[in-house]
Amino acid sequence: MDLLAELGRGVGVLASRALDLALPATCAGCDREGTTLCAQCRPALDARLHLAPGTPVGLPGDIPALLVQVEWCASFGGVARRALHRLKYTGDRRLAEPLGHAVGRRWARAGAGGEVLVPVPASPDRVRDRGYDQAELIARAAGRVCGLPVCLLLERSRVTTAQFDLDRSARSGNVAGAFRMRTRTEVGVEVGALDGHDGPVRLAGAWVVLVDDVLTTGSTLGACARVLMDHGALAVSAVTVARER
Ligand SMILES: [Zn+2]
Repeated sequence: MDLLAELGRGVGVLASRALDLALPATCAGCDREGTTLCAQCRPALDARLHLAPGTPVGLPGDIPALLVQVEWCASFGGVARRALHRLKYTGDRRLAEPLGHAVGRRWARAGAGGEVLVPVPASPDRVRDRGYDQAELIARAAGRVCGLPVCLLLERSRVTTAQFDLDRSARSGNVAGAFRMRTRTEVGVEVGALDGHDGPVRLAGAWVVLVDDVLTTGSTLGACARVLMDHGALAVSAVTVARER
């Protein structure tokens, strides 16, 4: 039965991909035909591009204390919100390109330090349903713009409730312990700052930049930073497409 469910899911993913290719692209921002994000809507993703770095984080409630710097491209609304929604819930992976490019531009301009981009992993169930991990795609597109390598260092260690279903105080408990380092074999990428042992990767003094789609309370970023610091990271910063207030 599980196998059938898996097959059904796989067929669903393939069918939605085939549909993507068959349908003409429409803009996620304004529904204009021709491209996934039109020239009129793209600038909305650069809303903060020219702001000086070091903008006070100002997160309500707990600030993720372990993070050196948190940057984002735009508020979670309008074009950014619609494009992220389409990437996450309608299976249109093409949106990762313009969203990731915006992340890369903001980080290239405002990021202080950082040697490797590490996406915040989505839950395996969601990756299976969608056929991709949106933060990974965003990180890869961002890396091409800001010139940093992408390394899939983290994985989910247990299932968590979707953060938007929880209030602020429950969110941080929900994600504590939700992430762990992948093993060196799984990571499969040579990065100078990774040590040479099998088993969970240890970072030798690397400055990691976490990449995610939306920043809300920062508790997810904080939980990831905890794991990276526990495994030898020198510092952890983060950059996201949008910030929800
Ligand atoms: Zn548009």
